[in-house]
Amino acid sequence: MIEIRMFPARDDNYGLLVHDTVSGATASIDAPDEEAILDALEETGWRLTDVFVTHHHYDHVEAVPALKAKFGARITASAHDVSRVPAVDRTVHDGDRIALGDTAVEVIGVPGHTLGHVAYRIGGEVFVGDTLFSLGCGRLFEGSPGQMWESLRRLRALPPQTRVWCGHEYTEANGRFAATIEPGNPDLAARLVEVRDLRLEGRPTLPTTIGRELATNPFLRADQPAVKAALDMEGRSDVDVFAEIRARKDRF
Ligand code: ZN
Ligand code: FE
Repeated sequence: MIEIRMFPARDDNYGLLVHDTVSGATASIDAPDEEAILDALEETGWRLTDVFVTHHHYDHVEAVPALKAKFGARITASAHDVSRVPAVDRTVHDGDRIALGDTAVEVIGVPGHTLGHVAYRIGGEVFVGDTLFSLGCGRLFEGSPGQMWESLRRLRALPPQTRVWCGHEYTEANGRFAATIEPGNPDLAARLVEVRDLRLEGRPTLPTTIGRELATNPFLRADQPAVKAALDMEGRSDVDVFAEIRARKDRF
């Protein structure tokens, strides 16, 4: 069994600790913020054994050297990023199966935001870094729209009850954009109310679920006839529609 601790880090990142209750092994998903991670370790009493890096951006790896020095944590990152993530001990590829103590962890290659981006799936939980956000997706800094669309298709094929843990609290701003794409989507309208209320109380909007994002996230819905019609893109390919939604969000 695993337990998960999520906590705010930096300006709008989330820190995440995953703890295997049988072995005691504990992984930090990315390493955004040394102070916040040390506080969470102290509050939980868990001892850090691993860091699972999703991608090389600074706000996800800044604390890697400190965590390695303090705890001897083993640093796992995409083979693609071995030269741009500090102190990597183990490289992984799409489809690899690794372990956190007694718990199986599946590596899913999700290029798009960066070319080396990976997600980590542990049972009914998936840690997606900056690939998928609630009501949004990561910017295409390195990959093509086709790569990102394929990555999102792989994530959305996970069981709908899968809980999705994202790298940032971007949901409210994403929601303002999503409403411009599908103003008539009732599931989206309900989610926007829920998100507003959560944020007014200072609470996180995450984790979300694959099922909820399938119903509300315009980037996962680029193949839906209603979305194509709303964009006047009937008959265009799913990737073209995805690229158009991403381009509009970049200008929004
Ligand atoms: Zn990033
Ligand atoms: Fe980030």
